[in-house]
Amino acid sequence: MTSSEIHTPPATAGESEPQQEPSGAVIAIPAGGGAFRGRYLDHAPGPVATARLLLELFGVRYRSREGLRRAAAELIYAHPGGWRHLGAATSKDREIRPRRAPAPVGACYCHQDDGTPSPAYIEAALAAHARAETAHLHGNASAASVLPPGTSAGPGHPALITRGSVPEGIDLIYLMYRDGLLIEVRDGAHPDSGRFTPAIVELPWGNEIDPVSVESAVAAVRARTPADIARAKVAEILTETADRLRAIPAHHDLVLHLLAGNSRFLSIPREHGPETALARAAGLHTSELPGHLHRLERGEQIQLLRQAASLLNPATHPAL
Ligand SMILES: [Zn+2]
Repeated sequence: MTSSEIHTPPATAGESEPQQEPSGAVIAIPAGGGAFRGRYLDHAPGPVATARLLLELFGVRYRSREGLRRAAAELIYAHPGGWRHLGAATSKDREIRPRRAPAPVGACYCHQDDGTPSPAYIEAALAAHARAETAHLHGNASAASVLPPGTSAGPGHPALITRGSVPEGIDLIYLMYRDGLLIEVRDGAHPDSGRFTPAIVELPWGNEIDPVSVESAVAAVRARTPADIARAKVAEILTETADRLRAIPAHHDLVLHLLAGNSRFLSIPREHGPETALARAAGLHTSELPGHLHRLERGEQIQLLRQAASLLNPATHPAL
């Protein structure tokens, strides 16, 4: 590093992030079947700034066909301690910017500025080596007996982070693919399972990002509740039923039969179920629904199903 560079990341100004948001995140590469291999990144000031930095990094440092492989080698495998920050800020420009090779890609927890391993990291590695030898002598050389106990990751804890071991307090994962970046967010509808849900389908390398759409997609996953998911599912069932009803020539009592068939794996209370939604859309009590459906023409039944879906989830099922 040159003397004009600042070692500690500057406070970010201008990004409209929620207060108190932990800045740590995980950067990762996919490992097949939904798995990933990741490292801790301490300075990750929100989805927009972090995504932008990663996109810029792939623009200036990992831009060839071999870009992803080189990113994996450098960002994931060469630095088991994880990252304080990626890129660097200068005294002229306090925003952290990506660096071209061969400058260091950022500041990690396992190496010092001159590239030699940090004393703390050497100590941890020596301890792991001693555990490996002991485990070998006892005929128990499994990884679990060698690696540090627990799934701790974060400042100073060398740890490969996988889907099953995302540390508490981290709610964003930046997955780097060959074609672009995918942001996964801790899903508000599954607060206890630690499930992460993709917020943005694709942020292709080489494109500008739209801050508003990134922020709103991330916020939407964070703010989801189990009721939101049930509502979306019921709306989907109503629409599927409308589609099937349109496709088959049959008696109109079939509406409820089809609804029941489509809902048989749905484990939500009846008062939140498709029949109740249908009755609500018709402005009736559920007990009046069968008679009402009997009086409707096929087209009117389909219309009612779509209307009920739209009331539940207008974003996915817009009103006709
Ligand atoms: Zn390192």
